Amino acid sequence: MAFETITKAPSVRAHAALTDEIRENFTWEDARAMLDGLPGGKLNIAHEALDRHLPDHGGQTALIWLGKDGARREFTYADLVAETARFANVLHANGLNMGSRVYGLMGREPELYIATLGTLKAGCVFSPLFSAFGPEPIRTRMEIADANALVTTASLYKRKVKAWADELPSLKLILIVGDEAPEGCVALSPAMAEASPEFDTVPMDPEDTSLIHFTSGTTGKPKGAVHVHAAVAYHAMTGRYALEMRPETVFWCTADPGWVTGTSYGIIAPLVNRTTMIVDEAEFDLDRWYGILQDEAVAVWYTAPTAIRMLMRSGKDAAQPYDFSALRFMASVGEPLNPEAVVWGNEVFGQPFHDNWWQTETGGIVIANTLAMDVKPGSMGKPLPGQVATIVERDDGSVRELGPGEIGELALRPGWPSMMRAYLHEEARYYKAFAGGWYLTGDLAMQDGDGYFWFVGRADDLIKTSGHLIGPFEVESALIEHEAVAEAGVIGLPDETAGEVVRAYVCLNPGFEPSEDLEKSIRGLARKKLGPAVAPREVLFRESLPKTRSGKIMRRLLKARELGLPEGDISTLETDEK
Ligand code: ATP
Ligand code: MG
Repeated sequence: MAFETITKAPSVRAHAALTDEIRENFTWEDARAMLDGLPGGKLNIAHEALDRHLPDHGGQTALIWLGKDGARREFTYADLVAETARFANVLHANGLNMGSRVYGLMGREPELYIATLGTLKAGCVFSPLFSAFGPEPIRTRMEIADANALVTTASLYKRKVKAWADELPSLKLILIVGDEAPEGCVALSPAMAEASPEFDTVPMDPEDTSLIHFTSGTTGKPKGAVHVHAAVAYHAMTGRYALEMRPETVFWCTADPGWVTGTSYGIIAPLVNRTTMIVDEAEFDLDRWYGILQDEAVAVWYTAPTAIRMLMRSGKDAAQPYDFSALRFMASVGEPLNPEAVVWGNEVFGQPFHDNWWQTETGGIVIANTLAMDVKPGSMGKPLPGQVATIVERDDGSVRELGPGEIGELALRPGWPSMMRAYLHEEARYYKAFAGGWYLTGDLAMQDGDGYFWFVGRADDLIKTSGHLIGPFEVESALIEHEAVAEAGVIGLPDETAGEVVRAYVCLNPGFEPSEDLEKSIRGLARKKLGPAVAPREVLFRESLPKTRSGKIMRRLLKARELGLPEGDISTLETDEK
């Protein structure tokens, strides 16, 4: 089921930020040279993202916020410099100082963006939480890092925080967005209005903590990854080379800042690269999304496979009425991007979706399909400049490098600026991720003879059947090539003779109903594409698949439910169908 390589025209290549020459000669010094820095070797992400664009570009629009109800607010770089200064002043006035931990819990409202950068400006550590989390996941995450402050809305506070807030001794300040605040909390608007719009950004040591990001919890209990200010060099560089950000580029990242993508590439990288970034408060909606791409003249669009599959589900015709001529680069992250989706993008938008790979731990994009590269649909692309990636096999404490075509664990040479510095309070788990001079990612992959990396599956998700090793992604991608299938989740179930058998769960496209015939036809196609050993033994129909709030299929949950095992940590679960 090989898809043809999508080659780039010379006219496209000519515009690419990342040329072969840069690729070959790149050093981390080049990344750091993209920054301004502060006197004495100090640094602050907020300075790089905002302050340094003044005075020359203070009038440029930095953020266009699109409200759910049609409202629209625009902030220039000068506006954000002033607003974040006010926010930093509010924190200091309330007794927070360098290293204090500030949590954010709200939807994609302008205040969230101001709070994130204002916190960094003040020298405090920011930790974003997804607003849809329940009280328990919020509390656990705030306890892990001894939260000192929380910025949230009155409604979220009442529903999710109030009941236990005074049981958290470290929590000194609760800021409530708007004019009024419940007892014991501080209203943000009047506090900001009183605060000065001037603030001297706190110079930080490059190794000082900036953000604590929790992983998606796809494979188990979420980990708190600790990131530092030095990471901003990597955001500057990957924004430019992997996402084609230039000054004034209209850039839209659809991820929520509750996840690392929404912070690294939904706040920091676009501002450091002086783009104009779009923030949409609303959830996915086909016409709204196509409308934003068209009306805002989005030039670079960074989204996720689950959204792309939803667009595909509505068919090519739904995209027809829109004008996407401003779009010059599209990328995807978070989950394997099915080759079908890459090709679909090429047909609908005149260019493929460029898949890229990274993790909360890596802090930024590591492996990517870039503008100048030919795209092999289904491949994650090649390591970015400065990155050394390989495929290894673990053998107790040591690791062995594997050759082209061999499947093993994806490993990276540590040392790039945005790499996590710790899993908070989980030293053993952190050290387990390193061996033989490599950082072991927990993902299985393969490198082909041309140096392209191919995702195979999470180490935990691999299926062993009759002597074959099967990655669920390959099977899922074959299944969604069937005209009826919109989305698929594949797991292995224990079997006496085969060891494991492949079981698939699928969601159907509109206009298709579950039936025995359809099941047969889907299995038939899979058998034809994958061979009988790899094709699913059974295909079950579902209305939806269990996913994390960052849009990843939770295969471990499909499996636990099937086998009647404990569900484990499901704090990040989004759609739920038992
Ligand atoms: P947890 O570590 O808590 O189980 P998680 O790994 O899903 O959750 P994230 O750090 O948000 O948490 O996601 C990173 C993971 O997402 C990667 O390790 C990989 O498995 C998957 N991923 C991200 N991008 C891609 C991609 N382009 N192709 C395939 N998989 C991807
Ligand atoms: Mg992970």
